[in-house]
Amino acid sequence: MNSEKIRTAADATEPQVRRPSRRSILRAGAAITAASALSVAASGALAHAADGMEETVTYDAIIVGAGYAGITAARDLARQGLRVMLLEARGRVGGRTWTDTFAGHAVEMGGTWVDPATQPHVGAELNRYGIGLVEDAAPERTFLPTPSGPQEFSPAQGFGQLGLTYERIFEGSTQYFERPFEPLYRSDLITAKDKLSLRDRLNQMALTPEEELLVNGQTAVYSGGSSSTGALTMLAHWWALSGHNNTGWNNTMRYRIAGGTAALVNAMLSEAQPTLRLNTPVSQISQGSSGYYYVTTRTGRTYHSRGVILAVPVNVWKNIKFSPSLPAAQTTATTQGIAVKTGTKLWINARSPQGRFYAQGKEGGSPITMVIPDKPTAEGNLFIAFSTDPNLDPNNVTQVRSAIQQLGADLDIVSIKAHRWGSDEFAGGGWAFRKPGQLTSLYPAVTQPSGRLAFASGDIANGWSGYIDGAIESGKRAAQHIAANV
Ligand SMILES: Cc1cc2nc3c(=O)[nH]c(=O)nc-3n(C[C@H](O)[C@H](O)[C@H](O)COP(=O)(O)OP(=O)(O)OC[C@H]3O[C@@H](n4cnc5c(N)ncnc54)[C@H](O)[C@@H]3O)c2cc1C
Repeated sequence: MNSEKIRTAADATEPQVRRPSRRSILRAGAAITAASALSVAASGALAHAADGMEETVTYDAIIVGAGYAGITAARDLARQGLRVMLLEARGRVGGRTWTDTFAGHAVEMGGTWVDPATQPHVGAELNRYGIGLVEDAAPERTFLPTPSGPQEFSPAQGFGQLGLTYERIFEGSTQYFERPFEPLYRSDLITAKDKLSLRDRLNQMALTPEEELLVNGQTAVYSGGSSSTGALTMLAHWWALSGHNNTGWNNTMRYRIAGGTAALVNAMLSEAQPTLRLNTPVSQISQGSSGYYYVTTRTGRTYHSRGVILAVPVNVWKNIKFSPSLPAAQTTATTQGIAVKTGTKLWINARSPQGRFYAQGKEGGSPITMVIPDKPTAEGNLFIAFSTDPNLDPNNVTQVRSAIQQLGADLDIVSIKAHRWGSDEFAGGGWAFRKPGQLTSLYPAVTQPSGRLAFASGDIANGWSGYIDGAIESGKRAAQHIAANV
């Protein structure tokens, strides 16, 4: 880990490499601590505060992307005394987790629920920083689709029935996902299962019309709009990770991080103290003949390092130019995409004559497929809704109300705050949901580093892909590789 000046033919125009002064390191560190103690959105000032220094330094690792995966990697490398730079395209950290405010409450615009009982990586981080959990209040009423239209069920009846149907769909998962954190452990059984879409599986089962309608709204929304595009092995993997049972499954949407997802990400960032640049999209990553990496931003600034961790969503890897090119599995993954491309999350503040209800639609029905009650507000109640319909304008109160009415419920909407993750250029999609064949064709290669370029993303975890836990897992794995090789 020496910091000698590096000059190669490829980088003849690069600035001279020198160590920053102790004073400038302390100044940058102090700026980071202050910024991360504030709201993550306000930390844009940090990039400006430290500007003009780091381009002359060779870092042990440059991490591209400051979501949970990148920040975990930064923290783990910093703990080993390595010099880390974190480059983030947005004016905030957190990526697809984003604690914002709406109707007087902190709200999560992306990833939200965690369950330390089944998600070991998030559990370890919460313990490390002494951060607790907040439990959601259960819904009072449930509206579900039936062959004669939406009907009300008691929550126990509705979720109980749903769980029984899931148990049938995932029959055999204790064998084919015998070790859920080693998804290919039973490759002898997984290969055939991985060819199936969720639609194939529903068709195989010859469900009654009641059972079909009960689950196909969920299988469709998780898959990004159609049960035909999502793999059976993706949902079955989550089921297996939840303990192969309905209680564990329901608990994945029951607990939140006290203080929001930002509380944990800020705690990790405060410990890591990396050199952080916000508002800095990376456009190119090249390896020079010396073996060093050159990471170039959209504004044309180049930073150097011995190793790189690519911690941006798989769907947007293709927006960065790589030299040499990405390996085959990573190229295929970003070309096909892993995260759903149309995921939209809405927060709705509304007067609700039906109280705190949960409502779910059928596949191909309402543009909103799921509505979940949240906290009371001055006007009524907050509701979370999910849509995968690109034609829904999530900020249009009339469209959103009509979509909810199609679920058999109603809301007198006061205001909406929504984020379309699919059209977010630094996400390129919402939650990860693999397509049929992706598990067996891309894994394990898609998780493997190429030289000292390592890949970290919640989209390619061995365990909880599509979850915060998976992002942390992947960040730890990438950091281990870099620490051992720079
Ligand atoms: C609507 C929604 C609901 C979800 N619900 C849950 C849930 O309840 N529980 C749960 O555990 N998980 C949930 N998830 C999934 C979870 O949020 C993600 O798996 C996790 O946050 C991914 O973390 P990451 O670090 O891999 O990627 P990201 O969080 O996407 O971080 C990647 C970072 O890279 C940055 N970036 C992109 N391009 C560039 C570039 N060119 N240069 C520099 N930086 C760049 C991005 O701005 C971003 O900050 C949900 C996701 C969504 C979208």
